[in-house]
Amino acid sequence: MLIVQKYGGSSVGNPERIRNVARKIVDRKRLGNDLVIVVSAMGDTTDDLITMASQITDDPSEREMDMLLSTGEQISVALLAMAIHTLGEEAISFTGAQVGIMTDSIHTKAKIVKVRGAAKMRQELKKGKIVIVAGFQGIDKDENITTLGRGGSDTTAVAMAAVLKADECEIYTDVDGVYTTDPRIVTDARKLGVIAYDEMLEMASLGAKVMHSRSIEMAKKFGVVIHVRSSFKNVQGTLIQEEDAKMEDVIVRGVALNKDEAKITIARVPDRPGIAAKIFKMIAEGNVNIDMIIQNVSEKGYTDLSFTVLKDELKKALKVIGTIARDVGAAGVKHDENMAKVSVVGVGMRSHTGIAAAMFEALASKKINIDMISTSEIKVSCVINSRDAEKAVKAIHDKFKLGDKKVLKEKVGAAK
Ligand code: ASP
Ligand code: MG
Repeated sequence: MLIVQKYGGSSVGNPERIRNVARKIVDRKRLGNDLVIVVSAMGDTTDDLITMASQITDDPSEREMDMLLSTGEQISVALLAMAIHTLGEEAISFTGAQVGIMTDSIHTKAKIVKVRGAAKMRQELKKGKIVIVAGFQGIDKDENITTLGRGGSDTTAVAMAAVLKADECEIYTDVDGVYTTDPRIVTDARKLGVIAYDEMLEMASLGAKVMHSRSIEMAKKFGVVIHVRSSFKNVQGTLIQEEDAKMEDVIVRGVALNKDEAKITIARVPDRPGIAAKIFKMIAEGNVNIDMIIQNVSEKGYTDLSFTVLKDELKKALKVIGTIARDVGAAGVKHDENMAKVSVVGVGMRSHTGIAAAMFEALASKKINIDMISTSEIKVSCVINSRDAEKAVKAIHDKFKLGDKKVLKEKVGAAK
């Protein structure tokens, strides 16, 4: 079997852990498998590098940021290869560029467009080597080093599994799977045996930090079944896969929380056709990602426009939006940094009604005010004040009885 494994930063957090990981890899190899291993930077390396840059400048060039951040993974791949050598197996490490991970040129959040190195990796596997690939990085058409966004090693792993048509793609992390919600907030959160790509995609983009969202998109596109599991305990984790009919039996799969939201309101925007188009085009050109948008009922030809952005993009967003507001003749811009978004997710919502109402009831029962609401086919999200965030998650998790085993009828059918 060809197996792609990815080990996250905490799994390779120190030399001792690297040696442990090497042992696990070698054991799998000796069972007769071909292995391609993707690793993240050790522990907090990436954060430390970011801190270092911030001690030099508060406005670093994004190209140089990528040059800097990509070094973290270069350290861990080399050390892991050495650790494997000491156990008597052959291993060879590669940077993203060396295995032809081609990306666009959007530094610090580049997208993989192509992987050129499949043949090269196969050659190494054929020689009996364990192939180790630096996660989170690639190279653009002008040979600049790029990175894929925080947590991007997951995406590297799925890309490897896709191009090599691997039999398995295992993501080893410090949690033992995907839970109904964050177990640190809700003690009876339960580990899921299986979750659909679309659900995981929502959970990831709504704040569940288990996996990089783009890795799920890619897995869905190429049909890669992902097994998220613990690097410290040898237990079955969670399979992320295409949904099947059984999955719809569960109405709400999980509750996600994102506490890193900020709200921006552009006040008294002239209410004319074309204004929203103009505003959001300029925002997009400013490279600001916005999330929920609400336009109030207009009064006397003016309207308020509110939307949410991630807190760490607030500064950038306000800069862009200040200019836009002046440009379109709005009265001003307000913002609130203390927002959280709580969401329920489940493919079963496609065939059930009343989910939003139940969620609002749960919030109402705790006297939590809802600021903004958005829904899609498989999720309902509410923006609330961040001081109520944990309380909200608990109330909603309870309301849908997610801690209760009996409501889950699914089986881990596809477990290998
Ligand atoms: N080292 C990078 C980060 O910390 C990428 C990753 O961990 O997946 O974001
Ligand atoms: Mg990391």
